[in-house]
Amino acid sequence: TLLLAVMSALISCVLCFYIITLRRHPGKELLAAIRNNQFYVVYQPVIDSSTMKIAGVEALMRWKHPEAGEIPPDVFIHFAETQNLIVPLTRHLFKLIAHDALTLQNVLPPGSRLGVNIAPGHLHADSFCQDIRSFVSSLPASHFQLVLEMTERDMLNEKVATQLFDWLHEEGFLIAIDDFGTGHSALIYLERFRFDYLKIDRGFIAAIGTETITSPVLDTVLSLAKRMHLTTVAEGVETPEQASWLCERGVNYLQGYWISRPLTLMQLVAAHDEPAKY
Ligand code: C2E
Ligand code: CA
Ligand code: CA
Ligand code: CA
Repeated sequence: TLLLAVMSALISCVLCFYIITLRRHPGKELLAAIRNNQFYVVYQPVIDSSTMKIAGVEALMRWKHPEAGEIPPDVFIHFAETQNLIVPLTRHLFKLIAHDALTLQNVLPPGSRLGVNIAPGHLHADSFCQDIRSFVSSLPASHFQLVLEMTERDMLNEKVATQLFDWLHEEGFLIAIDDFGTGHSALIYLERFRFDYLKIDRGFIAAIGTETITSPVLDTVLSLAKRMHLTTVAEGVETPEQASWLCERGVNYLQGYWISRPLTLMQLVAAHDEPAKY
């Protein structure tokens, strides 16, 4: 019990430290972390439900803080947005992905989707188109099908967004509406904007197979997606029951811990060398 008490005291010390430092100098801390290379990218496989083979990955950012340890993206993305640092952070993400690109090309089949998350703040920035262009030119040509994942949180006005989406499509991107069904992503946007993918929030997926809940909302979302010719991706697939439920209903792609956790580049290479993993 003494050991336990000491350990929990230690853990809360570390937590306090990181909350205090981040609260006091969130901006400085984040910029320093970019300079000191504390960020890295993990890649979560997405599989095609008709072949159960890998169809692409979603890039997810990680911050390994020297004292505080791993800081979750929900925390630092929020910091970055409130501190006006989402643009440098996303540029840094693009750089890290470009750095990994040759290795990714070796382990992912041609045409693989490479999903990146775009925060609404970046969409609004003047530099957005330029940032996207230099990201594209930093990748090996035409190996990846790039997918921008975005929620509709404070989306631009309709005219600007329509033009931006057209431009992104011309540049060869596909656009996914992320976290669909959470209230961050509303029905109205499906009508207004040309999305290609609909990513169903894991909240819905988690409800599959629990005894009290049938999934009328999920059923409705899926038939809506079909009618609108949207490709569907289920996120947060954690059990084989959920996977087969989703496959039976024609969901196109599956992502989640049951398929694979997000992997470091090294782990992705190891999984590729041992394909039984998928
Ligand atoms: P998201 O875009 O919805 O990403 C999916 C999140 O679900 C990831 O969390 C992933 O690790 C987690 N996940 C995947 N499969 C499962 C599962 O089976 N069960 C459960 N419980 N969780 C699963 P992560 O990496 O912690 O990211 C959280 C959020 O932070 C992301 O949600 C995204 O909104 C944001 N984020 C992460 N990386 C970036 C980034 O580079 N840029 C931006 N703008 N946002 C990012
Ligand atoms: Ca996402
Ligand atoms: Ca999501
Ligand atoms: Ca999310």
